[in-house]
Amino acid sequence: MKVRIPQEVISCSNFMKGQWTKGEAQVQDIFSPYNGEKIGEVSLPSVHQIKDAIHYAHEAQKEWARTPIKERSRILFNFRNILLRDLDKISHLKASESGKTFEEGKAGLMKGIEVLEFALSLQNMDIGGRMEVSRGVSCEYRRTPLGVVANITPFNFPAMVPLWTIPINLALGNAYVWKPSDKTPLTSIEIANSLREAGLPSGLFTIIHGGADSVNTIIEAPEVKAIGFVGSTSVAKLVYTKATSLGKRALCLGGAKNHIILLPDADPQLAGVGISDSFTGCAGQRCMAASVLLAVGGVDEHIQKIIHRASSLKLGQDMGAIITRSQRDFLIDSIGRAEQAGAKILLDGRHTPPPHGMEKGNWIGPTILDEVQPGSEAQSVELFGPVLSIIRCKDITEALHIQNSSVYGNACSVFTNSGALAERVILGSQAGMVGVNVGVPVPREPFSFGGVAASKFGHGDITGEHCLDFWSDMKKVTIKWEKQNDSNWMS
Ligand code: NAD
Repeated sequence: MKVRIPQEVISCSNFMKGQWTKGEAQVQDIFSPYNGEKIGEVSLPSVHQIKDAIHYAHEAQKEWARTPIKERSRILFNFRNILLRDLDKISHLKASESGKTFEEGKAGLMKGIEVLEFALSLQNMDIGGRMEVSRGVSCEYRRTPLGVVANITPFNFPAMVPLWTIPINLALGNAYVWKPSDKTPLTSIEIANSLREAGLPSGLFTIIHGGADSVNTIIEAPEVKAIGFVGSTSVAKLVYTKATSLGKRALCLGGAKNHIILLPDADPQLAGVGISDSFTGCAGQRCMAASVLLAVGGVDEHIQKIIHRASSLKLGQDMGAIITRSQRDFLIDSIGRAEQAGAKILLDGRHTPPPHGMEKGNWIGPTILDEVQPGSEAQSVELFGPVLSIIRCKDITEALHIQNSSVYGNACSVFTNSGALAERVILGSQAGMVGVNVGVPVPREPFSFGGVAASKFGHGDITGEHCLDFWSDMKKVTIKWEKQNDSNWMS
């Protein structure tokens, strides 16, 4: 379906104390990557407004912490139904501001709803635990909320990434403060309105817009106990360092440079579709996109299939736009630099015509570079666009060596028909998420999401069963009610 780009400028403010609140600082314009038109205006908050909203959230959380998880979950269940009801409307909006296709916008929202459904299941799970440890004495775990938590999110998934953490935190009894991307703030309007309609009491969900200044004020607020961040590695490191230097809990997911190992025994059709869709999906603007193809031995038939599928994509219909004009120019320049460094261009997206009527948008077609050298920019730097760099390798050992030379460790995949070779890649690669014959190895709930190395700063994962210890505390309680004569050393 064609993305419906807003025809009128959407006015966006901050969601504070349960109300839309006009920011007292400057106003920022938002442009659609599709056509370069202004589609939104965001009023940024002052430091005073941010501090005041966080303090209000802190007070509101006290009652929320006392609300039983089943009651909290009922509101989240309403939230889920509202998101499903408004699926198309939200998908059009997030696609308009992030450059995704409508289908990608919808898929991201559906994945966010899946995480929400996992959060709904917490009410029926034993997330604490109790045991009689000695006659008449029991020990138990009680999972307790942290208080106010904050999350800072990137432009490329304006609904999915925040939904990774909103439902889980609200289910666990925290108050949630969200700083959306300054490039894609408009989707936050729909998320906040949906939570309000679902019946969430005021103060438990706060939206603070802006960039580094807003983030710094949020991190410094004494009421904020934990910070989640998803974005580029350089900013993830900054946020992690600042938050932990203040003694706060932080989990900061960074960038990626995902390598795919293609072995000659792989099914050519499966590999062709999986690898092409991985590097072109979301126009390559996702942390799980394939970026480097490590082609082991004779895989030319497979590569032809990748080229065939990627070259058939129509801009604006099958593949979306790049977030900003400067990022699109960076991609064009980096392809030029790779060519100068000796890469052979198998598919050149630099001159792919933009969709009719969208000439002012940020467009580039799928690009495939062959004979890229290990250590070059095309192999080592996160380009964040629809560019696939092929490196020819003599064997799987060399492929693994190149892959593990990356500073990143988000995801990798292998395409093969051999279980033994797949196992070698699973064991031998440093990535936190590994795929076998899967181009985008995103774990599904309840499995957790998260990379390693420069793709993640902090411990634990941000979603799934391994996020619970990050977003809550575990109180240990030892109880004795009966007076026992035969007491032991611990009574
Ligand atoms: P970004 O780092 O520029 O911005 C992320 C967030 O940080 C935004 O909310 C932004 O407003 C804020 N920010 C920017 N500069 C800041 C500063 N100096 N101090 C504090 N906050 C600041 O990232 P982006 O361009 O929005 O997103 C793309 C990046 O995100 C890519 O590197 C991609 O790989 C990564 N990403 C990673 C994951 C993952 O799960 N690992 C998922 C999605 C995106």
